[in-house]
Amino acid sequence: MKKFIFISFILLWTLSAQDSETNKLIEGLLGDTPIEEDLKELCDVIGGRPTGSRANSLSIDWGLKKFQEAGVSASKEVFTMPGLWLENETSAQIGGAAEFEPRVVALTFSKGTHRTGLRGKLVDGGHGTIDDFARLGENARGNFVIIETDELVDIDGLFKEYADAVLIEDLAYEAGVKGLVYMSSRPMRLLYRHNASRSFENTLPMVVMAREDAKRCLRILRNDESLALLVKINVRKGAAYKSYNVIGEIEGSERPEEVVIIGAHLDSWGLGTGANDNGCNVAMMIDIARQMIKLDIKPKRTIRFALWNGEELGLYGSMAYTKQYESQLDNHIMAMSVDIGSGPITGFFTGGRPDVLESTNKITDPLTDLGMFTNIDIPLVGTDNFDFMMHGVGNLIANHEPANYAPNYHAESDTYDKVNLKALKLNSAIVAAVTLGYANDLNINLPRQSRQNIEKLVESTDLEQQMKSMMGIWYQWIDGKRGRK
Ligand SMILES: [Zn+2]
Repeated sequence: MKKFIFISFILLWTLSAQDSETNKLIEGLLGDTPIEEDLKELCDVIGGRPTGSRANSLSIDWGLKKFQEAGVSASKEVFTMPGLWLENETSAQIGGAAEFEPRVVALTFSKGTHRTGLRGKLVDGGHGTIDDFARLGENARGNFVIIETDELVDIDGLFKEYADAVLIEDLAYEAGVKGLVYMSSRPMRLLYRHNASRSFENTLPMVVMAREDAKRCLRILRNDESLALLVKINVRKGAAYKSYNVIGEIEGSERPEEVVIIGAHLDSWGLGTGANDNGCNVAMMIDIARQMIKLDIKPKRTIRFALWNGEELGLYGSMAYTKQYESQLDNHIMAMSVDIGSGPITGFFTGGRPDVLESTNKITDPLTDLGMFTNIDIPLVGTDNFDFMMHGVGNLIANHEPANYAPNYHAESDTYDKVNLKALKLNSAIVAAVTLGYANDLNINLPRQSRQNIEKLVESTDLEQQMKSMMGIWYQWIDGKRGRK
């Protein structure tokens, strides 16, 4: 009995010792921190930062400096981007039955045109389905095809948009079109961009046209009148080049060789200033690391804070990390991505791994002061957890209330004023608590999955379909170029 009491006392004491560390960090993060100033600098002063741009380089040095000023050991870690693609300027003119200048922007990886532009007939491609292209028949060949889209309202719509683009672009290539014009899925004259589905292999000129302008074109075409399009796409293309992730680290006090890694991506599109995607969560990573140093919080396992790069173009920075640190991945306990904006966190996606779900529930259930959390055990492709997942490392993505993330996603309107600053503070406390939970609970062990386990995960979920809608990564996995061998 005596012994039992003694053990319980030790257990209670250890638990409360852990809690007090976590509570101290939560309090620190909810208190006055420079997270808003950091985010303002990153968005308003540095601005939109596509990988390979000058602003992106500035953001790398800025992130490094922020870690160093906070006393966090940090470094720039080099990796190779397969090629450069940056938009200089895109413009268009409609002629024929009507004359006007629609607002346009090039899709990433769009082919450029001669500086005098590329001219062609504009034809109605409906929603770009098999039936639509069949109806167009030979009328698609050598012409610009304009594709109608649904207005984007939520994240599901976003995944659908990516998946649809793969089929639309396959059909467009088959039909021999001159170029593709997507109606903007955002309201009024708001522009945004995403990647051409064939990524660096894309050879077609492709633009997004403001919704109201595209609707005007379609009304005229559907009135049996004809239109011509002149498009000038001025892009900068280049060979492979070096880019950098920024990795900060706080070494573990008991198991320094074991790593919990959390990250957000530095790069954004040039449209807008990458505030919700993903500047706010970059600022969060820096704020958590800074408060841990300031409050002298020593995790038992090592915590790495990753500011990934090259994410938007194909998750290149985090892929490079998993290759570079492959020999250490057995010791990576958990990899978390925070990349769904600044709506309040509602829980975590646990990657189709019941063991990760269980340990995450164990950590989030007691966090009742910070909210009620529902963790969802599905695997998701689309951010920097991906290569960790395909290497068998336990991984999480923070799930958020959508707030205003979807309409502004990859759009001109993704600016500082759209960030939910109050929720961002709360989110930083939630992410910090989960991170410390994984770093300090030495009973949590998430053994790395074998290739066979990962293949099983792919078979038993919709991972194949998700991967096929993302820039050729399915074939990289199948060919053994990506993920665990
Ligand atoms: Zn993102």
